[in-house]
Amino acid sequence: MKNYKEFYINGQWVNPVEANDYPVINPATEKTIATISLGNKQDVDIAVLAAKKAFSSFGYTSVEQRIALLEALLKQYKDNYDAMAHAISQEMGAPIDLAINAQADTGKGHIKSALSALKKFEFERTIGNAQIIKEPIGVCGFITPWNWPINQIACKVAPALATGCTMILKPSEIAPLSAHLFSQMVHDAGFPAGVYNMINGDGMGVGSAISAHKDIDMVSFTGSTRAGIAIAKSAADTVKRVTQELGGKSPNIILDDADIEKVVKRGVLSCMNNTGQSCNAPTRMLIPQSHYQQAVDTAKATAAKVKVGSPEEHGHHIGPLVSESHFDKVQGMIQQGIDEGATLLAGGVGKPDGFETGYYTKPTIFTDVNNNMTIAREEIFGPVLVMIPYESEEQAIEIANDTPYGLAAFVHSADANRAKRVARKIRAGMVSINNAAHYYTSPFGGYKQSGNGREWGEFGFDDFLEIKSVSS
Ligand code: NAD
Repeated sequence: MKNYKEFYINGQWVNPVEANDYPVINPATEKTIATISLGNKQDVDIAVLAAKKAFSSFGYTSVEQRIALLEALLKQYKDNYDAMAHAISQEMGAPIDLAINAQADTGKGHIKSALSALKKFEFERTIGNAQIIKEPIGVCGFITPWNWPINQIACKVAPALATGCTMILKPSEIAPLSAHLFSQMVHDAGFPAGVYNMINGDGMGVGSAISAHKDIDMVSFTGSTRAGIAIAKSAADTVKRVTQELGGKSPNIILDDADIEKVVKRGVLSCMNNTGQSCNAPTRMLIPQSHYQQAVDTAKATAAKVKVGSPEEHGHHIGPLVSESHFDKVQGMIQQGIDEGATLLAGGVGKPDGFETGYYTKPTIFTDVNNNMTIAREEIFGPVLVMIPYESEEQAIEIANDTPYGLAAFVHSADANRAKRVARKIRAGMVSINNAAHYYTSPFGGYKQSGNGREWGEFGFDDFLEIKSVSS
């Protein structure tokens, strides 16, 4: 059995300074499947020292050297692809087909996308008498969540390696198995010691030691808005760069000329995907009043077809929520929706029949929701959809933008120009028209309290670069 208690520091697996066991629970079985150790500030200090030393040479490697290393990492990733999908499925409960086809694919996608961006990236240019040089920012600290665990790790690590940074990763303590496997891949790809380091831990012990560390030059965080604010405050004293990818409450604007049945059905399914645990999930469905009843009927029929099932089974069902505390939070939000007077169309509190063990939740839809209700304003992060009626296109845009978040939005219309016009008025970082896919080469990130950085592809490079002007 693998020893998950070790950290990866300075090119080797090492014991934590002080043992502090923490169980990794499979959310489908509620059983402990591994034990990690939670690190502390001393572990972070050791890793930062290694990363700082490694930066003095890795920061000056050539693009060709880094391309070769990233290609070796891509090979490692492809060779261990199935193991990655299984690790993700076990640690956070993604059904195995979702883990294979989507979750694990993100790791490969971001390495490939960083590689192709690196091959074209302009690190130097001249303006007037100034040579403009983009240089790696230095030692980076990464703090990542559990919901798309390898996605968030790879979309930080790959561009950081591509630009010549060195790093310390703290993956989510709830889903650390994928990070353990990824660290072994980085090792086997042959990156120099100290370039990439991984320490398990919680927010208080390791996360805050990273955010406050004087020798870490930037922190890239993905997670809740609550933790993002704490990290930015803790980082402020050292004036390091902080980029945040935070929560969302994304509107799905269905215009009156859209194929209502088709888009409502898709909207319900995409909200429930990954058991609703996606920051960019379309959780607020905005429907013209004239088509509201038709949309409600379609949503009800679609919800009845959303199956709940074990992550081990193949198929398009949804799995459990990630943890007991998250299950309790989602249950509390569903109860709050009922208490605030929304109409329960499907699902509700309690576990689905036959799923007493595991953190399973009923796919839930609320109708007669107004945008002031808590279930329309706060991120629930579970399979819970709210359906909000609107009277006019202007009102739909107003409701869509009436949120502290601004991560993603979805617009549906038979008229492409109309959809684009609406898309331009939405204050969000990513808008999808008629379910168009968001590729690994497009920028990922949000407006307002959804964050401030941009990840993925060439856009993911900027956060890891300083800009130097040399005039002569
Ligand atoms: P979380 O904020 O609880 O934890 C995320 C990470 O931060 C974990 O590694 C955790 O240990 C660490 N952490 C927590 N408190 C900390 C602190 N005070 N200082 C330093 N580190 C701290 O989030 P989660 O529950 O793991 O993930 C779900 C959240 O992530 C949702 O809000 C979701 O919207 C968001 N998310 C955003 C994006 C995006 O790109 N915008 C992507 C995925 C998830």
